[in-house]
Amino acid sequence: MDAEIIAVGSELLTPDHTDSNSLFLTRRLNENGIEVRLKTIVGDDRERLAAVFRAALKRSELIILTGGLGPTEDDINRDVVAEVLRRPLREIAEIRQRLESLFQRLGRKMSENNLRQAMVPEGAAWLENKNGTAPGIWIEHKGRTIVLLPGPPRELEAMFDAACLPRLTRLAAGNRIRARVLKVVGLPESEVDQRIAPIYKTYANPTTTILAISGAIEVHLRAHAPSAEAADARLGELAEKIEAILGDHVFATHGETLEEVVGMYLVMNQKTVAVAESSTGGLLAERLTRTPGSSKYFLGGAVCYSNTLKVRLASVPENLLEKHGAVSKPVARAMAEGIRRNTGADIGVGITGIAGPGGGTAEKPVGLVFISMADERGTEVREFRFPGDRARVRLWATQAALELIRRRIRS
Ligand code: ATP
Repeated sequence: MDAEIIAVGSELLTPDHTDSNSLFLTRRLNENGIEVRLKTIVGDDRERLAAVFRAALKRSELIILTGGLGPTEDDINRDVVAEVLRRPLREIAEIRQRLESLFQRLGRKMSENNLRQAMVPEGAAWLENKNGTAPGIWIEHKGRTIVLLPGPPRELEAMFDAACLPRLTRLAAGNRIRARVLKVVGLPESEVDQRIAPIYKTYANPTTTILAISGAIEVHLRAHAPSAEAADARLGELAEKIEAILGDHVFATHGETLEEVVGMYLVMNQKTVAVAESSTGGLLAERLTRTPGSSKYFLGGAVCYSNTLKVRLASVPENLLEKHGAVSKPVARAMAEGIRRNTGADIGVGITGIAGPGGGTAEKPVGLVFISMADERGTEVREFRFPGDRARVRLWATQAALELIRRRIRS
């Protein structure tokens, strides 16, 4: 079964409001074996909504409209749907009674337009709203299912879970969707695609999407099958083939972050780590401590931005700073070795670089970063030239540092 979502509300077309309802709905629909094929945002405009809804009726089995169920003139969903389906609106006595007793309880006078909420297209079922006044509407029409839900997320979510899910589970029985994310470092997106396309293109199910996200390349696999187990088996088969091609560039096979994987390796090998960070200002320490339980392997470190603190906290020899400058291979090496010595960690990491936008020279441009890792087997220093703005240079630097640790522990 394929679904389409139409979010209605002029505010959703401004920069200040996001259509978060469709994210919630998509998650729930996917969990129940239903794919969302199309999403549209329409302002409070009858003609445009009617056009979008007519088109949806031609192509989608399940159409969910959100918002526009309130009592005011700009709440148009109920009217437009009734008109397009040629099902006149009828007042439902039970909804009217509920509205009247609610207003009575609140000690408020109900205005005439509130009764619009008691109107439901002929032949439709209505869905109780436990968190508000506007009921939802459920219509089965010529092989299509049309659902109208209120806009406020609190109302929509409760109504969807209580009233829609049980009905949809029946409609979508026999299909399960499962997803898996492989994550890759050290290869550009184009190369990942070039290497694995010959394999994934032979599979229509699972489908494969490649995305560059937060310093890694992600390979998203999505499978349909009659059961979750069968869908997982399909994912497993393709994932294994992809892993075989990309080798240890794949750092995660179930969506784990690089810091989680590094943490896992550190725990498994009973190693501890400490960091001395200059240009990343503590971002590496922050990432290493994002995972619960990181106290098992992360001792701490120093944000030594100034030369004085590089000397004082990471024991970088002053003459190295004078001779080579703070952004240099020898200083990165001294930072890693110094912090390792000073903290007693198994692994010391040093990062020094130019994050920009200012401070670059022809010899040492913005994006130049030296990263060093020291352990009992010796010290490694790598030079990187990261593209992008300050935030990206800093992110890439921590990504490269984590990857250095991962590779060292694996080898
Ligand atoms: P009400 O009875 O409160 O008028 P309604 O069904 O008419 O509900 P709207 O008036 O369209 O819904 O929206 C009510 C609130 O819900 C607004 O704050 C709106 O920004 C929010 N909202 C509407 N649609 C969405 C959406 N797709 N995602 C997130 N929030 C939404």
